[in-house]
Amino acid sequence: MMSPDPLTFVARLREALGGIAKAQLHEPHFGGREWDYVKDCLDTGWISSVGSRVSQFERMLSHHVDGRPVVACVNGTAALRVALELAGVGPNDEVLIPALTFVATANSVSHLGAIAHFIDSSETTLGVDPVKLEAHLHETADRRANRVLNRKTGRRLAAIVPMHCFGHPVDMDPLIELGARWQIPVVEDATESLGSHYKGRMCGALASLAALSFNGNKIVTTGGGGAIVAEDPELARRAKHLTTTAKLPHRWAFIHDEVGYNDRMPNINAAVGVAQLEQLPRFLAAKRALQKHYETVFADFPGARLFRPQPWAESNIWLAVLVLDHPDAAVRDALLDASNAVGLMTRPAWTLMHRLAMYRDHPRATLATAEDLESRIICLPSSAALGFSHV
Ligand SMILES: *Cc1c(COP(=O)(O)O)cnc(C)c1O
Repeated sequence: MMSPDPLTFVARLREALGGIAKAQLHEPHFGGREWDYVKDCLDTGWISSVGSRVSQFERMLSHHVDGRPVVACVNGTAALRVALELAGVGPNDEVLIPALTFVATANSVSHLGAIAHFIDSSETTLGVDPVKLEAHLHETADRRANRVLNRKTGRRLAAIVPMHCFGHPVDMDPLIELGARWQIPVVEDATESLGSHYKGRMCGALASLAALSFNGNKIVTTGGGGAIVAEDPELARRAKHLTTTAKLPHRWAFIHDEVGYNDRMPNINAAVGVAQLEQLPRFLAAKRALQKHYETVFADFPGARLFRPQPWAESNIWLAVLVLDHPDAAVRDALLDASNAVGLMTRPAWTLMHRLAMYRDHPRATLATAEDLESRIICLPSSAALGFSHV
């Protein structure tokens, strides 16, 4: 059994990146009209909560989620929290989320007073494993009228949140089908997958509610930002209402009809987002070309292979991922050390949610695959700019 060698790894990375000295994991690229649109905001004074760039950004974004209504907001965490609230999640409910995710997925559940319940992932998609989820439900859940209860905790299982890990589509159809059968709403964490397709359909438009993120490290950025996508226009209207202090329209009076949030995206951020979306096709082409290049360079690399999305998936390649053949955290760390030491930024997967102090005692399924993947994944430099020369 060949264990991947750190020096060979660095050499292959260098080769794939055309010999450049330094590379970030994922850098934003402002090569479009960002300056013009931001300057326009400052010149006109339309920087904050009301302004035409927000609705323009929402309209443009809608084209990337199958024409569904979109509500821009301050960040992906807020978008997830609002989407979960619209799905009916409330205090003391449990929400099924992958243990292999960024902490924001779990935090958005906690922000509603609900409890994240961790489930396992699939080696072939890196996302929630539908077969294991079904087995876990049979083991732990009871159906009572139109509610599904966790037999051990007595709490309601109120939602399932599949996440397209590193932009690579999760196998969504069986999860939607499972959600329908168990009557548990599915909310899509599409924060990493703008521009990805699943069986020809757009990620972010696969479940009835979804969340997007435009944080600085995502494929398209607004500095900080997010969006709620709703299939039902009435839910989108609710999302807009909740994120804008639940204010009723009136010529001059301040009337708010429930406890709302100040979660709206400022116009100045949306201005950046409009310029970024104009470049999304170019970013996608560059990132996919970089992935192909990595596939070639790492083709015969001993002890590891580049993660390849399923044949039915067209990933945005938010992050290209090298997967070690065997779980070995020491080998993984040696590769991480060697590459980061020379300025080529690589990262492991996130520490699994059930290992974090605040989520240690949360309910969970057997997490064998997530734990295995945790010591096998290395995320490679994936900025769009690194792929421009390949397209
Ligand atoms: C980025 C991200 C979020 C949250 O987005 P923010 O805009 O950073 O709040 C949620 N879930 C996952 C999986 C993410 O990668």
